[in-house]
Amino acid sequence: MTLPELSPLLAELTQLRHELHRLAELSGQETDTAQHLQHYLQRYSPGQLLSGLGSGTGLVAIFEGKKLGPTLMLRADMDALPIADANQLPYSSRKQGVSHKCGHDGHMSMLAGLAPLLARHPLKRGRLLLLMQPAEETGQGARALLKDERFTSLAPDYIFGLHNLPGYPLGQVVLREGTFCPASKGLHVTLRGRTAHAAEPELGHSPANALAELLQQLPKLPPTTQPAELSLLTLTHARLGDSSFGISPGEAELLATLRANLQPDMDRLSEAVEHLLHQTASAQGLGLSLEYREVFPATTNGAEAFACMQRAATAAGLDVHLKQDPFRWSEDFGCYNQLAPSGFFGLGAGLEQPNLHNAAYDFPDALLPYGLRMYWALIGQLLGH
Ligand SMILES: [Zn+2]
Ligand SMILES: [Zn+2]
Repeated sequence: MTLPELSPLLAELTQLRHELHRLAELSGQETDTAQHLQHYLQRYSPGQLLSGLGSGTGLVAIFEGKKLGPTLMLRADMDALPIADANQLPYSSRKQGVSHKCGHDGHMSMLAGLAPLLARHPLKRGRLLLLMQPAEETGQGARALLKDERFTSLAPDYIFGLHNLPGYPLGQVVLREGTFCPASKGLHVTLRGRTAHAAEPELGHSPANALAELLQQLPKLPPTTQPAELSLLTLTHARLGDSSFGISPGEAELLATLRANLQPDMDRLSEAVEHLLHQTASAQGLGLSLEYREVFPATTNGAEAFACMQRAATAAGLDVHLKQDPFRWSEDFGCYNQLAPSGFFGLGAGLEQPNLHNAAYDFPDALLPYGLRMYWALIGQLLGH
């Protein structure tokens, strides 16, 4: 797919990206976004268009090849973030405090842009599934799809996805074999003692000392290792009692995020964390509850998927960067590994772009053709067009 061949389509996809940007919806609430995409995709007559998947707003457009062959699934994420749009744009988010600050509007547009290409160049063999996935940011979207039989029965043979990457040259394909992004999970801890009048703290049972000890000790638990074997605990929030001068606190709350590149390291870290929590709470006679939220598995590229992505980038004539160490952020794309061999790659969004989740970030429209070219090369390689 050459750039001149793509250029008439790019104006249409830029407009689609702006419309999706304006519709920005939070994780799990992507109803207008789903409807808009559905209208767009229907114009190019997919064989089938499944809606209401997973957490309720997932979509899959199915394109059939002329003869039998493998099933390839390509995935884009749909959700925006609870961040106010700091940019004054003609297509600024219509919702106060919600905007596309991770570029999922661009991811959806690149994926949807394959539909008009397929209308012109039908697949030679197999089936292509274009998946629009809700709720990536909360780690719930892929999980919900994997519990939906209408989705799992599509039984793809390969799944690929991408994320745009500010700080990398525009259109550069960033690849890594093995772990691409770490497993991560949120830890929510509550310590329970007993409140008392602040004048008589000895009559209550404050969790202050236990909280102080945990704040000191928890970040020391992960072993310090090479970045390729990252294992990390970050304290993200702590609360002792309520904001008051009259009450000696009876409850404390602590939030932390655990990350590890390898699942066995994540399991070891979780075990060490739980051991310390139980030990501290019981030594101080406090009640303890702990819960994990926003659990992301590691996103890992197996040898086969990695080789497919390398070949596709070469075929598309795109610049490739082989990344030494995995990224630090997490992606729920890793969940799809249980369904089929899956590959995830980064796409440079430009060196001067603000970072993801920064209020000034906006997906660069100049990136649209690069994602299309990479996807088109993957389709060509596995299904032919
Ligand atoms: Zn994000
Ligand atoms: Zn994202």
